[in-house]
Formats: sequence, structure tokens, C-alpha cells
Amino acid sequence: MELPAQLSSLLPAGTVVTGHDMSVYLEDWWGRQVGSALCVALPKTAEEVAAIVRICAAARCGIIPQGGRTGLTGAGVPGAGGRLPVILSLSRMRSIRKIDAANASMEVDAGCILSEVQSAAIATDRLFPVSLGAEGSCQIGGVVSTNAGGTSVLRYGTTRENILGLEVVLPDGTIWDGMKALRKDNSGYALRQMFIGAEGTLGIITGAVLKLHPLPKAHATAWVGVAEPELALRLLNRFQSRCGERLTTFELMNAEQLASVITYRKIVASPTDAPWHILIELDDTSDTQFLFELLLSSLDAAMDAGEILDAVIAQNGMQRNNFWALRHGTADANRNIGHLLPADISVPVSAVPKFLNTASAAILKRFPEAQLVVVSHMGDGNVHFGVRFSRRVWGRQDDPAGTVVAVRTVVNDCADALGGSFSAEHGVGRRLIEELRARAGHVGYQAMQRLKDAFDPYGIMNPGCVLSCQD
Ligand SMILES: Cc1cc2nc3c(=O)[nH]c(=O)nc-3n(C[C@H](O)[C@H](O)[C@H](O)COP(=O)(O)OP(=O)(O)OC[C@H]3O[C@@H](n4cnc5c(N)ncnc54)[C@H](O)[C@@H]3O)c2cc1C
Repeated sequence: MELPAQLSSLLPAGTVVTGHDMSVYLEDWWGRQVGSALCVALPKTAEEVAAIVRICAAARCGIIPQGGRTGLTGAGVPGAGGRLPVILSLSRMRSIRKIDAANASMEVDAGCILSEVQSAAIATDRLFPVSLGAEGSCQIGGVVSTNAGGTSVLRYGTTRENILGLEVVLPDGTIWDGMKALRKDNSGYALRQMFIGAEGTLGIITGAVLKLHPLPKAHATAWVGVAEPELALRLLNRFQSRCGERLTTFELMNAEQLASVITYRKIVASPTDAPWHILIELDDTSDTQFLFELLLSSLDAAMDAGEILDAVIAQNGMQRNNFWALRHGTADANRNIGHLLPADISVPVSAVPKFLNTASAAILKRFPEAQLVVVSHMGDGNVHFGVRFSRRVWGRQDDPAGTVVAVRTVVNDCADALGGSFSAEHGVGRRLIEELRARAGHVGYQAMQRLKDAFDPYGIMNPGCVLSCQD
């Protein structure tokens, strides 16, 4: 029996998709990568996932675990060429299994949408702090598998810091039950850490125990204009000293990035007029007035020190939402205006200004026609450094004159020179496997390969992602 037929005999009617009906599962968020697959399987339980994996393992057929398809490195959809894989979508696994408010933990299926998980936590007066622009469609399994960062890492850490336990179907079709809700557990290797950020190459996450936090009730939010990144760094340090852990968000963007959002979303005006803009948010579990005064006095001190050009404080929830809309609008604007070559680097926080100066100079020297579109989770040293070409310059070709690789090399070399990483939060996926091979170092790369071989000896889990297939 053909593999799709075998899977169909196992799963309920209508949950194995083939032919033209697969199209929605085959395209990445950018619309730049469209592959093909044998079929898409839509299991509902960990046991069904395990049965699918056993059938695929026997046939040595590749499996691509798929969440909400909002990943930005092409990891959750098939690439071009090679043997056709099975896509295993977790989208029907959407139960919130249990909330233990007293333990500040929540057990969920991997297919739960991030925003639904956030809402469920709020309903019990708790916070699940991972937050990002795609939260309305990305799934917990995808968020865990990419170790997503987002806009509150400064205070709460990345996804890795907010996962207590996992349930994973291993590449041989067995189920590892690591759904513990413990803050301390040194009983052997921390297996769950292997699967966090593994981009579906070591197993399929079917459940997760999430760490919750006290729910902040008070927010104080400002939109601030500064003249240059060096002053943004001083401002960040000032806010960290004065506000401590209340500083939850410190997001920087350049004027070109802000103008793109304003154009794309047809917004009337920018809150501030400056070469660089920062969204700052303080959160606390109580006392709005204190937080507001802390924000105001910190901005006053920064103004006196000549660090900022202008600042607007949100006076109500609507203004706060408007500031956030400017931040969250960046990805859509960048997908739709011109042709943007994205980079997702990190450097030590103190080196962000230097990175921005050197990378900007190096790119504009080589590509004077390019426009630089920068948005940065600055508090984490993470810079999304976009190099945009007008559609007229880019033309209809996929990659005129090898520009993609040339831009990537220049930007990542600048990050490397400062002790940085070519992938801060979006992962390696299919797009950056050569970068990983070139930049991980021989010892590190071989260790990753050995780990992959130990978990997945037949190489069926998300083949062609993170590590290249022929290794
Ligand atoms: C508008 C926008 C804003 C974004 N902002 C941020 C941001 O601020 N910070 C950030 O870090 N990212 C951001 N991203 C990237 C993206 O949202 C994250 O990578 C997200 O975590 C991916 O989740 P997903 O469910 O869409 O996964 P997918 O895209 O479907 O898959 C991503 C990877 O996870 C694997 N995977 C998915 N589910 C499972 C599973 N159950 N088990 C094993 N592997 C699995 C896939 O195989 C693939 O390798 C943004 C994306 C968009 C479109």
C-alpha cells in the first residue's frame, strides 16, 4: 500500500490531505518557498502522531512537523527537490490540558495557538510571557521548536526559560513523557532542552508544560525618538538601572522601518520625528501611578542628559495599542514593500551600535541602491537588519547576481566580528544551513551532527533543515 493510503487507513476520514488541497501547507510565510509533499497528516493525539511516525520510519520517509507556518527561515514547509516528505500538521491538537494556577504552570497540546494560551493564562490571573507579532497564528510546538524570542525577552527570557516540561514523539515512534511541572529537577540530562530550538529535527513535540508568571496589571508605555543607536544604548542602561525588572520592552527601529509601517498601514503620522525610535514599556503587578511617574522621571532625566530628542507617553489603552501596532506592523510591511533580504543577528547588547554602524557602512558601500530597514529587540542584542531593494532594481529574478548570499555574508561577518550570531531567534531552517556549517566551527558542527544521528539515525525528521542532508 502507498504511504498516504496507509496513513488514511490509520486516521479518521478527511485527516490525510493530498493533491491540490495541500497547497496551503506548502508555502512559507514570505511566499518565497513553495515545495511539495506526499500528503499532509492531521493527527489529534500523541498516539496518532506516534503511529504516523512509525509508518514513516519503516518507509524511511521524511516528516516535516508543521505548526502555524509563521517561521521565517522556511523550516516548517518542504524545500525544493529530494524525496517527497509527509507534512505532519499539529493544527488539530489544540486542547489546554490543565492549568495549575498555584504552581503557575499550564499543560497544553502542541497545536495550541500562542494567543489562546496567553488568554487562558490571563483568565487565571497569570501571564505566559512569550509574545510576538505572529502570536495570533503560531503554535506552541512551533514556538518551542524555534525557541522564539519576541518583545519581552528582556524581562522573562526566551521560550526556553518558560518551558518546564515536554511530551515528544521520537523518530522511532515512541513517546517520551517529560510533562513535569517542576522548577527544579536534576535527575539526569535535561532532555527537554534538546528539543527546544531543534526546529523539528529531533522529534515531534505533542505537549508542553508552560511556566506562568504573576500577571502585570499596570503598564506604562512610551514612544521615544533618539538621534543615534549609541544614545539608545545609554537610554537602555539608564532604564535598566532605574526601573530594574519592570523594564519589559525596549524595541528600537530606524526611521525607514517606521515609515514603511506608516505607509503600509496607512497611519496618519509618527508619534515622534527622529532618525531612530524606541518603544519602551514598564510593567508591574500593581500601582499604575507609580509606574507612570517612574517612566516620566526616567524620560526627564534622559532628556536632561541629552539622550532623547522627543518622547510621547501613552495616556490610555488605545494609545498604548497604537504604539504596539507600529511595532507589530513591521513584519507585514517588510513582506509587502520592495524586496527585503532579512537578517536576524545578535551581538552583545553593548555592541549593537557598533554593529549597526559597521554593517550599514559595509552594505551601502557594496549596494548603494539598497535601503536599510532596521528593527531591533535591543534589550536582547538582537537586530533584524533588513536590506531592501526596490522591485524595479530587484526585477523578476530570484536572486540577481548572487545578491542574497553577498548581503548575508557581509551582515553576518559584521556580527561575527563582534562575537555575535547569524541567527538570534528565527533559527537556521532551510535557508541558513550553509551559514551554520561555515560559522559553527568544526567541533561544534560535528557535535550537532552526532546528536542528530543519535536521535534520528535514518534522518527522517525534517530532512534538509538545520543540518544538510548529505552530512
Ligand atoms: C509577523 C511575524 C512576527 C514574528 N515575530 C517574531 C519574534 O518577535 N520573535 C521570534 O522569535 N520569532 C518571530 N517570528 C517567527 C515565528 O513566529 C516563530 O518562529 C514561531 O515560533 C513559529 O511558530 P509556528 O507554529 O508558526 O511554526 P512553523 O513555522 O510551522 O514551524 C517552525 C519550525 O518549528 C517546527 N515545528 C512546528 N511545530 C512543531 C512541533 N509540534 N514539534 C516539532 N517541531 C515543530 C517546524 O518543523 C519548523 O522547523 C515572527 C513571524 C511573523 C510572521
